[in-house]
Amino acid sequence: MFYKRASLLDSVDKITLMGPGPSCVPDEIYKALSVSTLGHMDSEFIKIMDGIKEMQQQIMATQNRLTVPISGTGSAGMETCFVNLIEPQDKVLILKNGVFGNRMFDVASRLGAEVDAIDAPWGIPIDPDKVREQLAKKAYKIVAIVHAETSTGVRNPIDEVAKLVHQTDALYLVDAVTSLGGIPVPTDEIGIDALYSGTQKCLSCPPGLSPVSFSEKAVKTISNRKNKVPNWYLDMNMIIQYWNGAKRVYHHTAPINMLYGLYQSLYLILDEGMDAVYARHMKYHNLLVKELEGIGMKMLVEKEYRLPMLNAVVVPDGVDEARVRSDLRTKYNIEIGAGLGDLAGKIFRIGLMGHTAREENVVKVVSALKASL
Ligand code: PLP
Repeated sequence: MFYKRASLLDSVDKITLMGPGPSCVPDEIYKALSVSTLGHMDSEFIKIMDGIKEMQQQIMATQNRLTVPISGTGSAGMETCFVNLIEPQDKVLILKNGVFGNRMFDVASRLGAEVDAIDAPWGIPIDPDKVREQLAKKAYKIVAIVHAETSTGVRNPIDEVAKLVHQTDALYLVDAVTSLGGIPVPTDEIGIDALYSGTQKCLSCPPGLSPVSFSEKAVKTISNRKNKVPNWYLDMNMIIQYWNGAKRVYHHTAPINMLYGLYQSLYLILDEGMDAVYARHMKYHNLLVKELEGIGMKMLVEKEYRLPMLNAVVVPDGVDEARVRSDLRTKYNIEIGAGLGDLAGKIFRIGLMGHTAREENVVKVVSALKASL
């Protein structure tokens, strides 16, 4: 019988997570996850929720009152932003150059929006000139972009695109799943109207929550909808009543211990200092690139648009990339990621996200790669 066997959890190895997420979780966060579970309407817990909102505002660089974590992974945050803002036949423009731009396109299309796209080749950032041309041709309700395209290692120019979007009436929607906590996400400064992230990347929590933020303009759009939000679980009109106000209204049972983990993760980032955290990501990214180039490997993305937390490294000719990844996992307990879609078999994706962005991990992965190649 299954229950008589040793628990499978007893034999889980400690893996150095250097892929596209999840990232390594620090002990302080594991400790937070195991704090006694409170009730979701308990006044002590409401104080913790308020702490999360305040710290999330700081890390998202926003004063937005509607800044809360959604129960669910990054894709739930994506869905939350689109499902609350889109009504059938709305015109939406998606700027896409990888898997997660494609996912946005799919999510928006399923909601009955009229969705257009501007594509850039994978590995190349979105070209703001193309966005300018398209915005001159057609009016959109939403323009959406992925800040850090995890599938390719490209940082898209969200600030340049913001200026173009703000010359129109469109709402600006940004995916910060991989960028938040690793590079600055200047929400209010550049005018992002809807932002979502995930816990398992640079926030270094296990996967399970998606911090989101909506500007006042976005909140007005949500409250002036002609139709009800078609998804009950992600309806911000109801979620807000649990997260805001003197008297809280039950919506769904909050994932209490995951929220403890998020609380601790935000606390750790602010405690280290946001600038120090960004500098640490950049420092170990630079070290990784130098070391990889030292063993003859090449980066996929041009220097200016490289993400520090997601390093897309070209697989050298004649190398079986699946064998190398499997070697790293079985012999060295290191996980790195494979290429996706157009880049399958062509790149390794080496993550330096959150707690993973440390010198010892760079040294470990480079020496394992050296041995395996
Ligand atoms: N957006 C980006 C940029 C991502 O990297 C990911 C996950 O890797 C997602 C969205 C989806 O997040 P999740 O897999 O947590 O649902």
